[in-house]
Amino acid sequence: MTDTGPLEQHLARLSARFTERTTEQLTEQLEALRAWRPGIPHQSLQDALIQLLHRLAGSAGTFGQAELGRQAAGLEQRLKTEHTDPAQAGLMISELTVELEQLLQLLGKPLPPAAVTATSPSLPLADGTSELLVLGADLAELAAALKQYGFATRHEQQLDTLPASCWHEHGIIITRSQHLQEVSEWNRYRASRAGKTPAPLLCAGAEQDFSTRYRLAELGVDGLFPLPVDVPALAERIEQLNREHQQHDQARVLLMDDDEELAEHYRLVLTEAGMEVRVLNRPYNMMSTLAEFHPDILLMDIHMPPYSGTTLARMIRFEPQWLSLPIIYLSSEQDRERQLSALAQGADEFITKPISDSLLIRTVSILCHRARQLSRLLARDGLTGLLNHSHSKQALSQEHARVQRMGHHTMVAMLDLDHFKKVNDNHGHATGDRVINTLAHLLQRRLRKTDSLGRYGGEEFVAVLPECDAQQARTLFEQICHDFAALKFRGQEQEFGVTVSVGLACLNDFTTAEEALSAADQALYERKRLGRNGVTDYAVISAHKPRV
Ligand code: GH3
Ligand code: MG
Ligand code: MG
Repeated sequence: MTDTGPLEQHLARLSARFTERTTEQLTEQLEALRAWRPGIPHQSLQDALIQLLHRLAGSAGTFGQAELGRQAAGLEQRLKTEHTDPAQAGLMISELTVELEQLLQLLGKPLPPAAVTATSPSLPLADGTSELLVLGADLAELAAALKQYGFATRHEQQLDTLPASCWHEHGIIITRSQHLQEVSEWNRYRASRAGKTPAPLLCAGAEQDFSTRYRLAELGVDGLFPLPVDVPALAERIEQLNREHQQHDQARVLLMDDDEELAEHYRLVLTEAGMEVRVLNRPYNMMSTLAEFHPDILLMDIHMPPYSGTTLARMIRFEPQWLSLPIIYLSSEQDRERQLSALAQGADEFITKPISDSLLIRTVSILCHRARQLSRLLARDGLTGLLNHSHSKQALSQEHARVQRMGHHTMVAMLDLDHFKKVNDNHGHATGDRVINTLAHLLQRRLRKTDSLGRYGGEEFVAVLPECDAQQARTLFEQICHDFAALKFRGQEQEFGVTVSVGLACLNDFTTAEEALSAADQALYERKRLGRNGVTDYAVISAHKPRV
């Protein structure tokens, strides 16, 4: 009877937990390897993998997985000693993928399905965005078009064919109106199981009449796209939904209340809802906390004897930097007259205590969202949502300073749409705007989160790519030029395509950011001269110039 004793049971639980955790970690690594694309540095992937293998080599035997431990040790040794030529990185990654699949099989777990992105030429998505699920036998073409835009896209004929392993994905769902009832119910069900809000639902094709639209809205549809679907418009909506999702996750709240228990309660409630919260019980460090934490909003108790919230609000507005910071009073003040007079003295909203937890979460997240939208407007270009001219330049100078300090390789790229005047002349300014937006979205998809991307002028863009060398930048932008040229836009009478030219320069080669930008610009104009639709690197053209 000894093998069912409490110790054995405990050990069995530990073993099961080991298998579960290891499966999770190996799967995560495997997915990262599958998402890797040429041009992306692979060092951090390799380091994370070595760390995991090292742990497995040391522990797997203890949990009855001796063979797994041996294989992990062998693989760790190889990874540490073999020097990989960057040109061979692709080969190494695909070999590693196979090795990891074998390790997973040793654990007796089924392999996770390969992500759809593995077959698309795109780079990994920027963090925080999720897979698109396109449901419907007749939406294969739409799914392919979205993939071309760089969205990780999964196409399924119907809900029944979707493997259960994809249930946890909370991406955006696009489906036909006839499936909506079923998809909407499924979406709500899986969200409630995961304790999350349902994924956004977009509908492709439906009658345009009022009652159909009303029924779709009732089912929770977030957008309606008549057939044939206007793909750039759909891509724009998806991008917007992704942005909203990211903003919600990042809400930052500074909470000032002298009631320590209450402040702690609010902090727990808002933190649980995914917000980042900092609490101050005394106002002394208010200014330095603002400067360091940079909240989206300040929630402030109005009575904090001997201090008054209204006076503190006025004090905060002394600093021009905080003129647009939303200040929200939290108070048990019920008198509307007094509330209004407090608002007149420098705050934006009033939340009356006591407030239920759910109402607090909703109110604060709406206020944060609005505050973020406003501050984005100040730094962002109105048409594309990218950094505007002056913030693009600022991002470039900041990166130049970082390069000087840390010495890593950074590339800068200038892009300009080809023969764009003709697009406007032939198809109208509004269509021209759509082309600009489409390129902006494609670039956003293909660049990493650490890259910065701005609209430098009308149809010109500038991208700054830290930790990237000339060859990687060339590969990336050649692929972008190629994919952009393949997109079809709907003109007034017929479909048309547009191309883009790119000039590159290495930030490390120049003493100022302006010089690097001007070099990228020269390379861009050389590319225009050479026939457009492609990439030219300043280092190559300057090497060919006769020396004086
Ligand atoms: P090239 O291949 O040499 O770049 O030719 P191009 O026609 O693109 O040349 P140019 O840069 O001189 O023309 C840019 C045009 O872009 C002129 C302007 O009307 C148009 N444009 C600038 N900003 C916008 C905008 O916001 N929307 C639209 N639709 N057009 C814009
Ligand atoms: Mg142009
Ligand atoms: Mg131009």
